[in-house]
Amino acid sequence: MIVMKFGGSSVANAERIKKVIEIIRENLKQKPVIVLSAMGDTTDYLLEAAETALRGGPASIKNALEKITDIHLNAYTGLSLGKTLPEDINALLADLNALLTGISLIKELSARSKDFLVSFGERLSARIVSAALNKVGIPSQSLDAWDAGIISDAVYGAAEILSESEKTVAERILPLLDKGIMPVITGFIAKDADGIITTLGRGGSDLSAAFIAAALKAEEAQVWKDVDGLLTADPRIVPDAAPVAEVTYEEAAELAYFGAQVLHPRTMYPCIKSGIPVRVKNSYNPSAPGTLVIAARSKNSNLAEGTPQHERPVSGRDVRSITTRKNVTLVDIISSRMLGQSGFLARVFAVFAQEGISVDMLATSEVSVSLTLDAAYNLGKVCEELSRIAAVQINTQKAIVTIICDVARSSSILEKAAGVCAGAGITIQMVSQGASKVNISFIVDDTEADTVVRLLHKTFFG
Ligand code: ASP
Ligand code: MG
Repeated sequence: MIVMKFGGSSVANAERIKKVIEIIRENLKQKPVIVLSAMGDTTDYLLEAAETALRGGPASIKNALEKITDIHLNAYTGLSLGKTLPEDINALLADLNALLTGISLIKELSARSKDFLVSFGERLSARIVSAALNKVGIPSQSLDAWDAGIISDAVYGAAEILSESEKTVAERILPLLDKGIMPVITGFIAKDADGIITTLGRGGSDLSAAFIAAALKAEEAQVWKDVDGLLTADPRIVPDAAPVAEVTYEEAAELAYFGAQVLHPRTMYPCIKSGIPVRVKNSYNPSAPGTLVIAARSKNSNLAEGTPQHERPVSGRDVRSITTRKNVTLVDIISSRMLGQSGFLARVFAVFAQEGISVDMLATSEVSVSLTLDAAYNLGKVCEELSRIAAVQINTQKAIVTIICDVARSSSILEKAAGVCAGAGITIQMVSQGASKVNISFIVDDTEADTVVRLLHKTFFG
């Protein structure tokens, strides 16, 4: 069996849900288990409704509630399920109304109440899609995450699914599949051990899907989104960026970190652990092959037949994707007194740790350290502390350019990348490679980053 997860924009309205049902129908043989996000931007609307409730009176709640009701009513009627909403959905909307009223009265919204509030989005969408599947003759049952066996800790807004849920999910879901009933499960939400509703963090329904796939030992977790997959570059920078056919988990994680926010590495973890492939597909363009995320590449899969690796010119086959992260600060720390002494790096990093600053890229020499961090940090305290042991130079408005690639070919890849930069009169200000076997990163000026990405894309993907 497989798990098919559909994101908010895939189930945004009746038309989109019809499309999703078509996609499900084509995969019936694989016994899909469905995991859903809230319809469209419902989660955002729920949060907005809470803000309105905090500020205003009952009238403002009325509008917010109407907006959310309309989205679901329109889908319900658009799917020819009935002219009015059924009892179970009306009951949820009545609870939502009561909750918003409560928020407007007590003018307080805790993390715990917020999770309860946003949980309505997924609960509504699962019921509607399940009803629509039944209507077209695909027997299905909607399940709230907890009825599907998902229990989490009590960290509201960022809950972790407890590992014992693996067993309960299998116990609840497999019998349904045996009976030929398709489970339609709410993503994103869970309950803690006390039965209080929690959420896994924004975008968390991917994680729900990956967890359920692992628990059921699925053949594949399909994540249906509104993009063709993980791309060779950000399409806003490189309009002809193409989907990457296959990436490893490690490559996908680097990609996500450096800006291609299609799939968050945390969400893939349950599948990584169990070696279950994750396929990213586009529900707006289902015939596109999508991107397959796998545990590891077979050793020689990059090689052209019969050609020794070192003799083959470097090409797009060695490079998965080119990404950039802008607005980065480069800090140069030049040791003054402790030249060559042990403990210098430890002291430097202790200062960053004290200030809770996360360091991204790093390069060292005998007398200096260069590192990058997010521009959002205030570095006043850090400079003060570091100046006791070193000269500090802060260089703002830098960008990290990252080539996600087969590092075994790094000499050729670096040669090309450096050539591209030299040709464009762009100075590479720092280079880092090695921690991960899948990325080469370097620093250029913010204003140069897009040009570098475009040129590299042209060079490697032609
Ligand atoms: N509906 C939730 C959100 O918008 C969860 C998800 O879509 O994955 O964040
Ligand atoms: Mg969403």
